Amino acid sequence: MSLIRFTENGLYCQQGNFYIDPWRPVEKAVITHAHSDHARWGSQSYLCHSLTQPLLELRLGTNHYQTAEWNEPIWINGVKLSLHPAGHIIGSSQIRLEYKGEIWVISGDYKTENDGLSGSFEPVNCHHFVTESTFGLPIYQWQQQEEIYSAIRNWVSKNQDDGYSSVLIAYSLGKAQRIISCLAKAGSPIYAHGAIANTQEKLIGAGITLDSVRRVDPGIPKQAYKKSIVIAPPSAEGSSWLQRFAPYRTAICSGWMQVRGNMRRRNADAGFALSDHADWPGLIQAVKATGASQVYVTHGFQSVFSRYLNEQGIMANEVSTAFGSEEDNETTMEDKPGSNNE
Ligand SMILES: [Zn+2]
Ligand SMILES: [Zn+2]
Repeated sequence: MSLIRFTENGLYCQQGNFYIDPWRPVEKAVITHAHSDHARWGSQSYLCHSLTQPLLELRLGTNHYQTAEWNEPIWINGVKLSLHPAGHIIGSSQIRLEYKGEIWVISGDYKTENDGLSGSFEPVNCHHFVTESTFGLPIYQWQQQEEIYSAIRNWVSKNQDDGYSSVLIAYSLGKAQRIISCLAKAGSPIYAHGAIANTQEKLIGAGITLDSVRRVDPGIPKQAYKKSIVIAPPSAEGSSWLQRFAPYRTAICSGWMQVRGNMRRRNADAGFALSDHADWPGLIQAVKATGASQVYVTHGFQSVFSRYLNEQGIMANEVSTAFGSEEDNETTMEDKPGSNNE
């Protein structure tokens, strides 16, 4: 019997009676990271990395949480479970499972470049590797983070010279923290939408060293925003909430910006291909580093990526899951009706 089965509730370990990132409520959920497609509401207990817990609390409220550190083994009915850095967002972890010599790694979402905030992705040897494929096409090859950061800084200072505010559209959990750290050293205050300010405050409250931001608030006179830097979630794109920053220019920070047409379709002035996911070479490198004899490819370009792996002599299968791509359609706290519109 296989240690992990792909069931209608999610990835199930029968021996330990727990699920990894289940998409339906279950008794025991082991969570790779706090994005909404992986950490869903309704389970009776959650096991996650200690840095993921405050984020789960923010989204799911009080619950039964058990935490672990990276590389700290936990035994569940004979199954040895441990978490290893996935480099995707703060607290994001790969889940390693071992039982009677059979080793599985479920990677969740991951990126191979160290962003300085999320922990450095750690290759873990295994027999069975479950990988995402969000950017599993050869066209997706990222520039180094530092190059993208300096392009962002140049864009902001050009806007300031021209008398414009700079509105950067970035997901509240993951991308926003990176953009804030990229721009914090420039010296200008950074204003943040409520969803991003909440996330930032929660993380700082949990003891994570991050730069603080100013919350966009109706009490702040419009004049104060002149030539300012504003970080906003995708839900604010094209909304009247942005009017207070006029005149402004917008930039979308997303891996999808690698494809030029996407920026025009979204009516942005600029696009930066900054992603929290591995690019095509990163995915290949990560899969090879595991030495896995069997790979399962989930959410993204499953068929292209698994076919490529098969051509390389690595056994790979597509697996359909309910994981989405937060680059694509993440519904996080900013999208809950009635919350954080300021
Ligand atoms: Zn994610
Ligand atoms: Zn995901």
